[in-house]
Amino acid sequence: MDMMYEVMFFILGTVMGSFFHVVATRLSNDESIISPGSHCPKCNHYLKWYENIPIFSYLFLKGRCRNCHSKIPLSYLVVEIVTGLLYAAIYHSFKFSFELGIALVFVSALITVIVSDIEYMIILDEVLIFSTLVLALMYLFGKGIDVLAYHIYSGVGAFLSMYAIKWLGDKAFHKESLGGGDIKLMFLFGMVLGLPMAIVTIFLATFIAFPVALLILFSDKENIIPFGPFLSMAAILVMVSKLGLDDVLTFLVK
Ligand SMILES: [Zn+2]
Repeated sequence: MDMMYEVMFFILGTVMGSFFHVVATRLSNDESIISPGSHCPKCNHYLKWYENIPIFSYLFLKGRCRNCHSKIPLSYLVVEIVTGLLYAAIYHSFKFSFELGIALVFVSALITVIVSDIEYMIILDEVLIFSTLVLALMYLFGKGIDVLAYHIYSGVGAFLSMYAIKWLGDKAFHKESLGGGDIKLMFLFGMVLGLPMAIVTIFLATFIAFPVALLILFSDKENIIPFGPFLSMAAILVMVSKLGLDDVLTFLVK
């Protein structure tokens, strides 16, 4: 039975992942999410329903538009598969619970952040505001006003911590060390993960980013890499693995 739900969440994830990719791409280009329908950006060919099935359509069309044969970015396939796997993992971790809903909204927002930040170097305010509102309503109606207030304080705490880190970074390196989007992102982390784990996420993100930064540094001169995707990956890891402060302290003390 559990396995069946995991497969269902995987399928739901692939559909949602496809949608998040569209949201990230269109909002970054100041286009509407709703209309026009899915179409090839090269020849404007509108996709038939069978050309719009996650994963399968990409494989079936061999990654090309059926009309003009221009390439469909591989990132579509990757985002669909990764979102599917994450949705299945979230169900595996939380089963049907209040936290399941929170985790799905949180991770969905972060997938959209990762796509727009990698492809356009933008963390979209629309995505942060929308997901914060949805989460706030969930805390309010699921847990009450006191719990909501606590989560908002945690968000503000994480936001201010990141702001302080940016201020120190700017002073130390005499240039913009972190983008505004990274700081706003921390509000979301603090709100959902709590202040201590939001801070842990920053360290974890640095840890994940370090080898990638080295690779990029040695490969070419282009050394501007957005930090948002690493922060988001770290936060997804913390959320899905249910990593808590106890685990971190146990690890550090050992
Ligand atoms: Zn086309």
